[in-house]
Parts: sequence; structure tokens; C-alpha cells
Amino acid sequence: MIQRTLSIIKPDAVRAGNAGKIIADIEKELKIVSLKRLHLTKAQAGAFYAVHAEKPFYQELVEFMTSGPIIVMCLEGEDAIVRYRTLMGATNPEKAAEGTLRKKYAASVSENAVHGSDAPETAAVEVPFFFSTCELI
Ligand code: GDP
Repeated sequence: MIQRTLSIIKPDAVRAGNAGKIIADIEKELKIVSLKRLHLTKAQAGAFYAVHAEKPFYQELVEFMTSGPIIVMCLEGEDAIVRYRTLMGATNPEKAAEGTLRKKYAASVSENAVHGSDAPETAAVEVPFFFSTCELI
């Protein structure tokens, strides 16, 4: 099934100059439907990660995600959600498989280079969080 998913290149990876390499890896697997660079406010990052509001690392996560610019993309392809999660690798880069984005570009469980929607229901909320209908045509 053709799906769409949300990808974020997080501030650590943008800061390190790894965005181009990450985009090149993504393009080998999936089509980029839309892309933009932005610097989230605390309110925007807090809203995006609202599902984690009760977690002990929530404040740290919001601080990190607002620490510099990010690149957000809507990706499309056959089974895009699981395929992009596979390309990303495990949340903790120490546990991420060889060749995955997090293995290659992430430093720690908190500063882990990339985000990807984890399910169709999540993608259905996360893509429109950043992209309007017009930007996805
Ligand atoms: P993901 O779907 O693989 O990104 O992982 P989660 O949904 O579990 O967590 C969301 C994001 O919160 C992760 O990508 C990390 O940036 C951050 N995070 C997760 N666990 C921790 C943790 O134990 N400590 C800190 N500081 N951040 C974490």
C-alpha cells in the first residue's frame, strides 16, 4: 500500500552538516513529497511531542528539538511508514542496525538525528502538523 509518513532531520544532524547525506539515503528508498527547514518554538515542539508530555525526558526533548533548525519532510512510497522506520534504526543508536540513519548519524538516545511516524494513525496527525494540503499536492 502506498503510504505517506513524516520525517524530521533533528537539530543535532542539521548542526553536524549531515542533512544532505540523510536526504540522499532517504531518496534511495522513498519519494520526498514536500520538504522545509524551520526552527520550532517551545510551544510547537511541545505540541508535536504532546504524547510524551508525562515522560521524564519531555522537557529535555523540547529543549533539544528547539536547539536549532530542523528539516521536515513528507515521504511517500510502498509501506513508507515501516520502511522509513527500518531505515532510521532503533531509538537508541547503540542498538541500531548497521547502515541505519541512527547508527550512522546519531550520538545518543536523546540526540538521535531523525524522527519518523511510527504508525498510520500517527502519520495522519504528524504530516498535517507541518504541511498544508496545498504543500502536499
Ligand atoms: P522514536 O519513535 O524512535 O523516535 O522514539 P520514542 O517515540 O520512544 O521517543 C521520541 C523521542 O524522544 C526519541 O526519538 C528521542 O529523541 C527522545 N527520547 C526517547 N527516550 C529518551 C530518553 O530516555 N531520554 C531522552 N533524553 N530522550 C529520549
